[in-house]
Amino acid sequence: MSNHPHRPETIAASALGYEDAASGAIIPPIHPSTTYIRDPDNAYSRGRVYARADNPTFDTPARTLSALENGADTLLFASGMAAATAVFMALDPGDHVLVPDEMYWALRNWLHGPATRWGLRVEGVDTSDTDAVRASLRPGETRLIWIETPANPLWTITDITALAELAHEAGAWLAVDSTVATPVHCRPLDLGADIVMHSATKYLNGHSDVIAGTLTTARRDEQWARIKAVQTQQGGILGSFEAWLLQRGLRTLFARVRWQSAAAQSLAERLSAHPAVSEVLYPGLPGFRGHGIAARQMTGGFGGMLSIRVKSGRQAAIAAAAKVGIWRRATSLGGVESLIEHRASIEGPTSPVPDDLLRLSVGLESLDDLFEDLDQALRRAD
Ligand code: PLP
Repeated sequence: MSNHPHRPETIAASALGYEDAASGAIIPPIHPSTTYIRDPDNAYSRGRVYARADNPTFDTPARTLSALENGADTLLFASGMAAATAVFMALDPGDHVLVPDEMYWALRNWLHGPATRWGLRVEGVDTSDTDAVRASLRPGETRLIWIETPANPLWTITDITALAELAHEAGAWLAVDSTVATPVHCRPLDLGADIVMHSATKYLNGHSDVIAGTLTTARRDEQWARIKAVQTQQGGILGSFEAWLLQRGLRTLFARVRWQSAAAQSLAERLSAHPAVSEVLYPGLPGFRGHGIAARQMTGGFGGMLSIRVKSGRQAAIAAAAKVGIWRRATSLGGVESLIEHRASIEGPTSPVPDDLLRLSVGLESLDDLFEDLDQALRRAD
């Protein structure tokens, strides 16, 4: 946080310098209690009533994230989807929202399905094209622009600063799914965004053993109060143990993500020269379409996610994924183990994803082992 005395690495690793006042413990405890004592005079002087609204186990991870994102407040949700949908459910029926054509597929399906049935006017646009966004905005009607950058699974880059300006001129908010960038590489609120969202299932927790989501706001305003009310009323909160695991994962965030980004950059460069690969999609490659904007708004690397297109097409891509030994054939991303996925198979026929595409989430294994494993799989599948 800019008004925080320490650098982000220190904030994350020290869990904000946590120390238990009673015992001196340096690790925050888990509070499984669902309810809190009322005082004899009928007040709740300690401020907590019931754990659907509030849980002290949330305090350390939420404050850590607020500090890392330079935000005013953070909410922890039961999943990334619970966090993202809360932003939209806090709007009014009839509100117009702009969402990316390319984005996390389950959220896209929810937006164009249930959200529309509930009365939101959802319009898809190529958010990497600032002029297209300008043309789609309806001043006075558009309440929210939602973006994801880099966006799943082509890693398309959207210019956060430009879209924040456009949104604010039109009286709308900008919300950013920053799951792939993480606070290690990008701080959307510093670039003008109003809300930043993470699937904390991914890099923030980092060990593929927690489903969680987060929202961090630039301001505690009326819209934030509405989002908070959606969460409290619908109960999409994180469990105590999951919140505790999340705070533990956050402590190693910088070490993990920096390693993963450096490894992804190196793999992207090596795979660009591979005879079985027609294209490598990675924002860190100078020839990548959004590289210039990514270099401006991301610092210290371009993230641990990349995709490759297999020259011989869909069957060869599926066959290559079947022949790996170290990469794990599974969906999701951001864990310590490397994952490979034929993305079109999971997204189904409505997906815009090319069917020769393999999505790669780079973990913490030896970079040479990862490359050699992929290399033999691609050659045998070709
Ligand atoms: N946003 C992105 C970029 C994701 O990759 C995902 C999950 O894959 C989500 C949101 C949804 O998060 P969750 O699976 O935690 O609900």
